[in-house]
Amino acid sequence: MTQPRRGGEYDVAVIGGGLVGSALAWGLARSGQTVAMLDEGDIAVRPSRGNFALVWVQGKGLGMSDYAGWTKKSSDDWGGFADLLYQQTGLDVAYRRPGGFMPMLSEEDLQARANAMMRLHNQPDMIPYPYEVMDRETLRKELPFIGPEVVGGTYCPLDGHCNSLRLLRTLHKGIGMLGVDYRPNHRVERIEHRDGGFRMAIAGNGAGGEIRAGKVVIAAGHDGARLAPMVGLSAPVRPQRGHVIVTEKTAPFLHHPTVYIRQTDEGGVMIGDSFEEAGFDTTLQPGVSSAIAERAIRFFPLLGKLNVVRSWAALRVLTPDGFPIYEESKTAPGAFVATCHSGVTLAANHALTLAPLIAAGGLGDRFTPFSARRFHVPQAA
Ligand SMILES: Cc1cc2nc3c(=O)[nH]c(=O)nc-3n(C[C@H](O)[C@H](O)[C@H](O)COP(=O)(O)OP(=O)(O)OC[C@H]3O[C@@H](n4cnc5c(N)ncnc54)[C@H](O)[C@@H]3O)c2cc1C
Repeated sequence: MTQPRRGGEYDVAVIGGGLVGSALAWGLARSGQTVAMLDEGDIAVRPSRGNFALVWVQGKGLGMSDYAGWTKKSSDDWGGFADLLYQQTGLDVAYRRPGGFMPMLSEEDLQARANAMMRLHNQPDMIPYPYEVMDRETLRKELPFIGPEVVGGTYCPLDGHCNSLRLLRTLHKGIGMLGVDYRPNHRVERIEHRDGGFRMAIAGNGAGGEIRAGKVVIAAGHDGARLAPMVGLSAPVRPQRGHVIVTEKTAPFLHHPTVYIRQTDEGGVMIGDSFEEAGFDTTLQPGVSSAIAERAIRFFPLLGKLNVVRSWAALRVLTPDGFPIYEESKTAPGAFVATCHSGVTLAANHALTLAPLIAAGGLGDRFTPFSARRFHVPQAA
C-alpha cells in the first residue's frame, strides 16, 4: 500500500474522482506513485454517473486521425483492462465487444454516414480498422427486430459496451486497494506552483487546508476550465446536455450495442443520444425524452411495449472540436490536464497508457496533437 511522503505530500494529486480521474489515479498507483484523489463530491456535475456506457470506435476521429488511433487503442486494450480490474477487485464491469451498429432511417442518412466513414479512413496517418456499410437485409440478419423504416446501417466489430456505473465503482474499489488517498468533499479552490511542487487549497464541507504534491493532474471535468489556467494550461470545455431513458428489464433481443439503443447486461434497455446546448441546466426535458423514445421505437418497434423506469439528463464535457486535451504545462512542469468527452471508451488508455507516462515524468511528442494550443490560433487582423 502506498503512503504519502512526509507532511502529507504525495507524488501526485489527481483533481477529480470521475471516470477520467479515477482511471488515472488507478494507473498512477499501479505505477508505484503515492496518490491523493481529491473530489468535490456528489453535488458536482458528473457525466461519469449519467453516460451511455459505450466503448465506441466507429466514426470517431474525423478531423484528427490521432484521436481515431487513440480510440482504437483503448478499444483494443479494454478487454485486458476489464480483466485486470476483475482480478484485483472481483467486480465484473460487464465489458462486451460484440461489434456495434449505427442503423439509419433514410437512404440519405445512410449515404452520408458511408461517406463520413470513407473520409475518416482516407485521412493522412489513419490507422485503418474494419467496418461495413450494410443494406437492410444484411443488417436484419444481425438485428432481427429492426422496424420497417430502417434502411441499413454501418457496423464495426471493434465497438462494445460495459456497465459504466459499475466501472466507476470498481475503479474506486481498486484505487482503495492500491492505497490511493481518496478524499471526497475536497473541492480544490486554487492550485499554486511553488518550490518545485504543487499546493492545492481545499474547500468543501469544512475540509479546509492544503494538499501538497510533486505533480498534479487536473481531471475535474467542467471545472478544468477554471483550474487549468492556474498552472499555465488551458481546458476550454463547455457542457452539452444529453438525455438517457432506461426501460424495464426484458428478454434479450439486442446482442449488439447501437449508438442510440443498447440492452444492458441486466436486461433493461438504454435509449439515448440527444444533444442540447443548455449551459449547466440538467433539468429533464419531456419533449426531448419523448423524441428519443419515439425514434427508438422506429428502430425497434418492440420497445413501444416496455415501461420506462428511469430517465435523466447529464452534461458532456466538450472541447471546441470534441477531441481530448492531454497536456503538460510548460510554465509549471509536473502539472497535467486530461479531459475528453468519451471517458468510458478511453478509460483503458487513461489507466494503462497515460497514467504510466505521467508517473514516468512526461507525455512526449506523441501527445502534441492533443495540446490545447490547437485552439489558440492567432486571429487575422
Ligand atoms: C448523456 C451522456 C452520454 C455519454 N455516453 C458516453 C458513452 O457512451 N461512452 C463514453 O465513452 N462516454 C460517454 N459519455 C462521456 C463520459 O461520461 C465522460 O467523458 C466522462 O464521464 C467524463 O469524466 P470526467 O471524470 O472527465 O468528468 P466528471 O464525471 O464531471 O468528473 C469530474 C469530477 O471532478 C470533480 N470536481 C470538479 N471540480 C472539482 C474541484 N474543483 N475539486 C475537486 N474535484 C472537482 C467532480 O466532483 C467530478 O466527480 C457520455 C456523457 C453523457 C453526458
